[in-house]
Parts: sequence; structure tokens; C-alpha cells
Amino acid sequence: MTRTIIAANWKEHPVTMKDARRLFDATMRAAVASPQAEVLVCPPAIFLEELAARMPRGARNASLGAQDVFWEEEGAFTGSVGPRMLKAIGVRYVIIGHSERRRVFGETDAIVNKKVRAAYAGGLMPIVCVGEPPEVRRKGVAAARRHIAQQLARGLKDVFSRGSHESGARGIIVAYEPLWAIGSGKNDSPVDAAAMAAFITSSIKRPSAKVLYGGSVDSANVREYVQLKEIDGALVGGASLVAKEFAALIRRSLAK
Ligand code: PEP
Repeated sequence: MTRTIIAANWKEHPVTMKDARRLFDATMRAAVASPQAEVLVCPPAIFLEELAARMPRGARNASLGAQDVFWEEEGAFTGSVGPRMLKAIGVRYVIIGHSERRRVFGETDAIVNKKVRAAYAGGLMPIVCVGEPPEVRRKGVAAARRHIAQQLARGLKDVFSRGSHESGARGIIVAYEPLWAIGSGKNDSPVDAAAMAAFITSSIKRPSAKVLYGGSVDSANVREYVQLKEIDGALVGGASLVAKEFAALIRRSLAK
């Protein structure tokens, strides 16, 4: 069964473990009630281990993801968390190259590339974020495509080439998140997002690649995106932090 992927990016929320538990439990109830959705929850790293232990048995369609990973497994890298540490506590996915990591923490495509390789080597599935800033989009769709093509070419450089360590990796998830749409309430039009998703799929040339749209997705608009064949799901920030809203979003993503 091909499931619609609904990924929750909690960012630096909530502040307490108690609130994280509450939000996670409600999200898991919603996931169990919608087995045709693949629900990925990406909380702050500090909550991952406890939430992994709380994953309900019936939630076969739910997984945990990290919001970032370092490219070295271990060593003198203060503040870092490596792929095997994540894998060992039950994490399956990792967001790499989110625009906030790029903007606030100075991550480049070269860093994204190292992290993607490390994720595969450590047995994690990367969710690689790409997206153009508003000044590029203002120049038109062709400019936006060039921007995305460059992010993909650099971020995934040699990742799938023959003989590379990761060439056996089965799939990849790319999240198309135009920067002007993130957290702004100004979501991209579904038709434009689908056209960019198709462009991303054809650029990657991996039959098993999945493309998510992210940027102000909520329960009211999610269906407009995921019903389009080019879009495999959504990466959701703000709306994933409100339990009722996210449950409605999961439900409506599957509505006929
Ligand atoms: C995100 O941060 O990945 C995101 C899409 O945020 P929001 O849904 O709040 O726009």
C-alpha cells in the first residue's frame, strides 16, 4: 500500500517532556486511526528516546525522525549527535538541510551532502529539504528550478553513484519547502508545488524517491496537495504542534 506521508517537524517545541508526551500520545492516536497515512514525528532530540519507548504497538504506520544529525559517528564534536546514536534508540528518519538549519546555523549544500551520506551509512532515511528564497521566486519559476536543481546536485552529489557506499540505499525523501511559505501562512499553490515536485522527481532519477510539500500546510489545505499524484505527502511545522489540528490534518489528508 502506498501511504500518504505526513511528517511533523516540531522544531524547538515543546519545552517540557510532559508536553512532548501529551502531544506525542495524541498524535499516535491519530496515526493509529488512519493506517493509510505514514506518520513521522520529528521532535527535539532530547525527547526521542522516551517517545520511542512510548510508541504504541498498534502504530505500525508511525515512526520517529530526528531534526538533524552530525556526519561523524562519534568523537570530539561537542554538542553533536551521530546517526548510530539515533538509530540505536529507534529513530528511522532524519530531516537534513531544513531552511532554518541553513539560515540560522550556516549549513551549506556541502554539509547537507555529508549528512545525507552519514544518514545512509547509519541506517537512517534522510528527508532532504530544499526550497528557494522569495527573491529567487520573484524572478520566476525557471529561476526557482535552477535554485532547487543546484541544491539537489550539491546536496546529493555522488550519493547514488555506482560504487558509492550509499548506492544500495533504496529511497530518499525530498521535502520541497519554498522559504517564503514556511511559517508564513502563505502556502504555495498546489499546482505550482506539484510542478516543482515533478521537477524534483525527474532531477533525482530514483524511482523510489518521494517528494513532500512543506510550507503552511494545515488541516484545511493538506488535501489539495496530497491528492496530486506528484506529491507524496507533507512536512508540517506549526500545525503539528496542536494535537487536534494535527489529528484533523492526518484525517483530511486521506479524505476522498
Ligand atoms: C517546516 O518548518 O518545515 C514547515 C513547513 O513549517 P510550517 O508548516 O509552520 O510552515
